[in-house]
Amino acid sequence: MNQSFAPLATAAPVISRVETLILDLPTIRPHKLSVATMTGQVVTLVRLHCSDGVTGLGEGTTIGGLAYGGESPESIKTNIDTWFAPVMIGQDATRVGSLMARIGRMVRENRFAKSAVECALLDAQGQRVGLPVSELLGGRRRDRLPVAWTLASGDTARDIAEAERMLDLRRHRVFKLKIGARGLREDIAHVAAIGRALGDQVSIRVDVNMAWSEHQAAFGMAALADVGCELVEQPVASAAAMGRLVRRFPIALMADESLTGPDSAFQIARVQGADVFAVKLEQSGGAFDALRVAAIADAAGIGLYGGTMLEGAVGTVISAHVFATFANLQWGTELFGPLLLTEEILTEPLDYSDFELTVPTGPGLGLTLDSDRVAFFARDGLRKTISLPQARI
Ligand SMILES: [Mg+2]
Repeated sequence: MNQSFAPLATAAPVISRVETLILDLPTIRPHKLSVATMTGQVVTLVRLHCSDGVTGLGEGTTIGGLAYGGESPESIKTNIDTWFAPVMIGQDATRVGSLMARIGRMVRENRFAKSAVECALLDAQGQRVGLPVSELLGGRRRDRLPVAWTLASGDTARDIAEAERMLDLRRHRVFKLKIGARGLREDIAHVAAIGRALGDQVSIRVDVNMAWSEHQAAFGMAALADVGCELVEQPVASAAAMGRLVRRFPIALMADESLTGPDSAFQIARVQGADVFAVKLEQSGGAFDALRVAAIADAAGIGLYGGTMLEGAVGTVISAHVFATFANLQWGTELFGPLLLTEEILTEPLDYSDFELTVPTGPGLGLTLDSDRVAFFARDGLRKTISLPQARI
């Protein structure tokens, strides 16, 4: 009697452990925003261990602790350890969308933490199937991304010197000035002086981080247009005020803080409340939701810009993979986070050259952490950080 054998079913790899650690990394200079002055950056890393031996990396990073939003590096770690991990352990590691939906049913809000674990899942799955994350997400349309630099020392002469150095190095020719912490006239004079010093070879933009009232913004946007500034980012907090300011002045208006994922993107698009969206993966809730935000912008005729939460290498590279797939990226990116840090935590640094960042081509994120460096900078690790490099508000 013939005996037939059904092929052995191959069990899907499952998530066996979710590891998180906080790194305290020094920065090249204080980074002065209207909401905070950052004297270092705190990065929450996720290492996702799977039963097939694959490890995926993710990152959750905020700007100035809790100064920017409702999540901090510490809350991201605690919530992933306490609430995400039990929902993830034992689940099929290859079904990224399905697992993120499962997490979404058990965890409300926490977009930054969701973005971090989704990144780790995508990195692991990319390594498993031998494809870069950008190919998993539909295929990249560009291999290199223009990268703006933020001038945020708070000192005009120092900012000009820094910009000139960036031009000499051929690293950046788009400059975003952080304003809003000082008086309006002083800020306009600061922008005008930098524009005059650098000339037509550069693009000057400003980010007010919601510091202005609507009235101040009306005055400020007219004055900024006069001094050759081409874009103002989130001058006011209110989405309604943004809608009233848009297209009143010959300067593009970009939504950043008021853009918190697909729902807010739809609300802003519905009232044509911005010319440009600064898409940030963590603000959006992860790569999939950032793609949804981009689709809404495209449908509404809103321009796109690849934003940053000043992430380290891992958060920057997942963002690069996602932005590389966008149909439109009219305003370039600001993926300079790793360049703000004094310490390299990768075995091979990212390629920033000729004003652009090269999107890695290896499977998954396409990067490898230097485990000795990571151990050194881990909070309570070898370096034993004495004073936390947190924001001084
Ligand atoms: Mg901004």
